Amino acid sequence: MGATFAVPNKPRKPKNIILMIGDGTGLVHLYAAYTAKGGQLNIYDYAKALGLSITASFDDYITDSAAGATAISTGKKTRNGMIGMDPDSSTLKTLFEEAFEKGISTGAVVTCELPHATPASFYAHQPSRKMYSQIAADMTLNPAASILIGGGLPYFDTLALKKAGYTVSIGTEAMERNQGKRQVCFTDTLKEPLPAPLRGPTLQKGSMHAIRHLSKNKKGFLLMIEGSQIDWGAHNNDSAHTIAEAIDFDNAAGEVLKWAQKDRNTLVIITADHECGGLTLHGYDKTRNRPVMHFSSGHHTAEPVPVYAYGPGSEDFCGVYQNTEIYNKMIRLLGL
Ligand code: MG
Ligand code: ZN
Repeated sequence: MGATFAVPNKPRKPKNIILMIGDGTGLVHLYAAYTAKGGQLNIYDYAKALGLSITASFDDYITDSAAGATAISTGKKTRNGMIGMDPDSSTLKTLFEEAFEKGISTGAVVTCELPHATPASFYAHQPSRKMYSQIAADMTLNPAASILIGGGLPYFDTLALKKAGYTVSIGTEAMERNQGKRQVCFTDTLKEPLPAPLRGPTLQKGSMHAIRHLSKNKKGFLLMIEGSQIDWGAHNNDSAHTIAEAIDFDNAAGEVLKWAQKDRNTLVIITADHECGGLTLHGYDKTRNRPVMHFSSGHHTAEPVPVYAYGPGSEDFCGVYQNTEIYNKMIRLLGL
């Protein structure tokens, strides 16, 4: 008879998903970090599957972070600037809200203000990303969030947070002592969070604190971790800031991936909402120990962004697809 074929193992489904978003982080930003780290990147070491995400929004060839994150959090393309809403300003249920209804815990860790576009798109519904206090109020009242770690304290009503059942802490040390059932851990009291390396390893520590908290739920968890300021460095065409933030993001990814390797039930997806800066590398700068970085733009670009995946279900992320497919793939893998 004919040749026999090995029947592929039934792909395993993850219990938990950790979604890491490097804001504005194209292929080149991470390669710049790899170069500056002397030829090593945790994300490269662990990535088992690699895909490309097409990031255009509903109304623009080039997305902003609000439409970019809304595509990933809801599976719908929307207009630039809109948070968790469709192009007609109707509220969309986010993946995190759907998961919460099934008993799955959710959380977010970011290096920007918590009501900033990317984390907002997972927990808020507003027609404009600029509506910071309304977004903060949405996040406060959203029952889906079990832990929120980031900046932006001045935008929140801490009394309302406590009323909603959150234990509020300020600073990294207080965060690590925070044992509340629901937590908001502000990393600082500032309106604009500190850049890397001034803020210290808060992304790394926050990510692991969130994992320790969320993994208490036997039904599983979803965690979004954002390297928010890689984008800010690229907007400013600031090579040092871009590299420092990309390395900070990779350091956090290293801790997360090491944990996922031990856990064996967690899918880690590492991607971006869009590229920023039209970054190219033109050589190696020996005096600064980093690549010579050329930014062709001070804005986002249309370049598709890589999707790195590790863990059960990672093979689903191979290929070239729209950013909304990241949502569809997560929904399918979680059986929601
Ligand atoms: Mg962002
Ligand atoms: Zn940006």
